[in-house]
Amino acid sequence: MFHTHTPPEYLTSDAITGNVVHCFSTRYGGVSTGHLSSLNLGVHRGDDWNNVYENYRRLGAAVGFTPEQTVFTHQTHTDIVSRVGAEDRGWGLFREVEPERDGIYTDEAGVALVCFSADCTPILLHDPVRHAVAAVHAGWRGTALGIAARCVEAMTRDFGTDPADLQAAIGPCIGPCCFETGPEVRAAMLDALGEEAERFIRPALRSCHSERSEESVPPSQEKYYPDLKRLNALWLRRAGVTTVDVSKDCTRCQPQRFWSHRVTGQARGSLAAVIMLRP
Ligand SMILES: [Zn+2]
Repeated sequence: MFHTHTPPEYLTSDAITGNVVHCFSTRYGGVSTGHLSSLNLGVHRGDDWNNVYENYRRLGAAVGFTPEQTVFTHQTHTDIVSRVGAEDRGWGLFREVEPERDGIYTDEAGVALVCFSADCTPILLHDPVRHAVAAVHAGWRGTALGIAARCVEAMTRDFGTDPADLQAAIGPCIGPCCFETGPEVRAAMLDALGEEAERFIRPALRSCHSERSEESVPPSQEKYYPDLKRLNALWLRRAGVTTVDVSKDCTRCQPQRFWSHRVTGQARGSLAAVIMLRP
């Protein structure tokens, strides 16, 4: 179950427990103005850097981390996950992140991992036994590539993580209510996950009053509504993770509360999901 905190408003999952802090941000409680109002956490959105810094300071003060402790992803819709540590702090907020990585993980305390979204799926992982955390960004491409499972595998390889110990929280993203796609997205999910993926892809509803027969819609124009959160939960369960908490919130349904790329295009801020082992 997810809980709302304020101010600034952010969400936490009660699946993530122990000596760790985490959050999924909303738009509320920051200092950015105009179309970035108000809690923009992206440094490449056209915002004044000082506003972004102050937004991190406010969110971090409420959640329990500082801007100086942050390490960002560099998201390009890959399945690349990278191990980071204390020496990487400041990467993103104070200097450019060079290597592409859609997920980052660490076993070092005091390193606040940050991934970004504005309809894509943010995923946080915590291993309370081996003391490690991860932040992962999965759009539909990253979901089809199984980046959530790649991150679990990397934590097992590097830290000896038993996936059954992991606590996973999948944050707000565009839901199957709103995420209209063509058949290529469905095909990618079925290729990657097999028939079980079909449970989490809603076909377009046909009106029983429709004048057109079913045959009148060519397959290439069929619409499908994938549930990215549940597809990522499926990847995690297959990777051996048993504790997976899934947010009910759809970013596109609540554009005042969450940044939604589908609603505003590039004229938007970024949501952040943050997780850090307490020092
Ligand atoms: Zn929706």
